[in-house]
Amino acid sequence: MDLRFTQAEIAFRDEARAFFRTQIPREIRERVSAGRHPTKDDIVTTQRILNARGWAVPHWPREWGGQDWTPVQRYIFNEEMQAEAVPPPLPFGTQMVGPVIAAFGNEAQKRRFLPRIANIDAWWCQGCSEPGAGSDLASLKTRAERVGDFYVINGQKTWTTLAQYADWIFVLVRTDAAAKKQEGISFILADMKTPGITVRPIVTIDGGREVNEVFFDDVRVPAENLVGQENKGWDYAKFLLGNERSGIARIGLSKERLRRIKRLAAEVPAGDGVLWDDMDFRKQVASVEIELKALEMTQLRVVAADSKRTDRKPDPMSSILKIKGSELQQATTELLMRVVGPYALPYAPDEEEDDGAHPTNAPPAGPDWAATVAPLYFNTRKVSIYGGSNEIQRNIIAKAILGL
Ligand SMILES: Cc1cc2nc3c(=O)[nH]c(=O)nc-3n(C[C@H](O)[C@H](O)[C@H](O)COP(=O)(O)OP(=O)(O)OC[C@H]3O[C@@H](n4cnc5c(N)ncnc54)[C@H](O)[C@@H]3O)c2cc1C
Repeated sequence: MDLRFTQAEIAFRDEARAFFRTQIPREIRERVSAGRHPTKDDIVTTQRILNARGWAVPHWPREWGGQDWTPVQRYIFNEEMQAEAVPPPLPFGTQMVGPVIAAFGNEAQKRRFLPRIANIDAWWCQGCSEPGAGSDLASLKTRAERVGDFYVINGQKTWTTLAQYADWIFVLVRTDAAAKKQEGISFILADMKTPGITVRPIVTIDGGREVNEVFFDDVRVPAENLVGQENKGWDYAKFLLGNERSGIARIGLSKERLRRIKRLAAEVPAGDGVLWDDMDFRKQVASVEIELKALEMTQLRVVAADSKRTDRKPDPMSSILKIKGSELQQATTELLMRVVGPYALPYAPDEEEDDGAHPTNAPPAGPDWAATVAPLYFNTRKVSIYGGSNEIQRNIIAKAILGL
């Protein structure tokens, strides 16, 4: 198997890299590189620039803005985007609900929703998980009852990322309580302004306001917002979750972070010199770098095999990429904690998200870049949980790859 890029692929990589460096505002990329959450404006601005170039939804069908790229081109594009610290298009729209509507929605839904998702004219959030239905998602209890031309939804979703900005939510709901649990689920689109929807923030360990609880109390949603067939929602959810997992290794992001670690370690005083003189530290960096190279080779093998597949089913190998990729993302934040040393201690949540509850008039302790390191370290604990926890990925590997 030849894992080298062709001349055309190298030219494509250079084109994407140049575009990201010249067209995406530097201050946005610097914010992301420093480990801050991109703001809502950062995400909207970036996605609109990408959409104007035809690059916001390259994986969609061509008639809705897709690019017919090969798996290798998609891989290159995503890696370059991460390596240049460009905030990706909002995944809940572009990676999740968009492809579901394109594959299973009717023509009216496609015309109504897809262009607005591509240009982020509507902000979407993902209403799958519930208290008591995370890994075992098919146990979900939020129900929708058909009353005339409406579905009336009651229940609760949780961990709903960035729901505080959302115009729309896609929800998995139970429409047939008597059926086997996977067979009574439907996939419905709800306008967040509908009376009866309440969003409550969950403050995470890093002080962030990233996730929420979303409550539904007698929420009346037009029946035309059902995607596909009633009670077939589990099929669409499996399709969606398969897409969520692809590209989750985020090798480009870890590479970018390793470059930053080396840059900072060459400045941070330690003993008579700088941290980068410390052989023990360099050994730790090297060990993460070697594992990342091995993961990159594995990912390229998956991408090369994917180029030859004709079915669009998710490859169970993506579970290996998810586990290793998330572990390495966490390892890079551990290295950053070593770089920042005692300056990690002061509690400094992102200022964009500060609600005034924390004093902000005290001068920052340590260098400017130190404030985001501990929040990033804590926030990155999430990557081994979301997108299917790493334990669940191990179960998939055991069954689908090892045949146990
Ligand atoms: C930051 C963040 C953002 C999220 N955003 C969203 C969102 O926008 N929308 C949304 O719908 N959901 C979202 N989620 C939810 C996410 O999908 C779930 O957290 C995840 O599926 C795990 O479910 P759970 O939290 O209920 O844990 P549980 O399923 O209760 O699992 C608890 C623990 O038990 C382990 N476990 C469970 N079952 C098994 C098993 N069969 N074998 C071995 N171990 C097992 C798990 O690995 C985990 O360690 C988000 C989660 C996080 C952390």
